[in-house]
Amino acid sequence: MPRPLVLFDLDNTLVDRRARLAGWAAKFTSRHGLGDEEQAYVLEMVAERTYPSTFDAIRTRYGFLMPAEELWRSYCADIAAMVSCPDAVLDGLDELRAAGWRVGVATNGGADIQWAKLRATGIADHVDGAFVSGEADALKPEVRHFALAAARCGAALGDGGWMVGDNPVNDIGGGHSAGLRTVWVDNGRPWAPQAPEPDHTVPHARAAIDLLLRCTADRARTAS
Ligand SMILES: [Mg+2]
Repeated sequence: MPRPLVLFDLDNTLVDRRARLAGWAAKFTSRHGLGDEEQAYVLEMVAERTYPSTFDAIRTRYGFLMPAEELWRSYCADIAAMVSCPDAVLDGLDELRAAGWRVGVATNGGADIQWAKLRATGIADHVDGAFVSGEADALKPEVRHFALAAARCGAALGDGGWMVGDNPVNDIGGGHSAGLRTVWVDNGRPWAPQAPEPDHTVPHARAAIDLLLRCTADRARTAS
């Protein structure tokens, strides 16, 4: 029997990206001598997903002389240093692997920023593999994204598996389309009516890990 596969989303699932953005915006505006009133604009620009082109717009608005690439590199370093993954989640990833799971990360974004976060938080050392959409222009919810993430873990979608994430469309809808069972990390939000619904809903990543560990125990009991 193949080892079961579980893929985790990164931002706002394994790491607390959203919670760190306001702090980063305050730091950015202070560093560049911008008024407090500009924090809201900067925050809005990076709120959902940030790419090098985001800093073209910011550079133009403020007439910065440094290249956008320099601003982007600085952003990657800042955010990688600011986000964190709880120790209980890192331990949980190890517990899953010890229980026989293949554990991976499936995340949208630029390869440089996402890998910087994976390494800085230590997540890269606690999973079998990770795939970032920017590496192959394959965004969630495309099935190809999940296939590439599974391959990084030495698995295939045909063997089934699980997707854990906070985004209803990208993680839950995409995971469902890829033939995976799904766990929605609600982060305190109600489920907005949209199909397909997740197989399970949990408040945070550690609860998803505990759910999967219970599945392992149930499977072992059934098999014996
Ligand atoms: Mg997310």
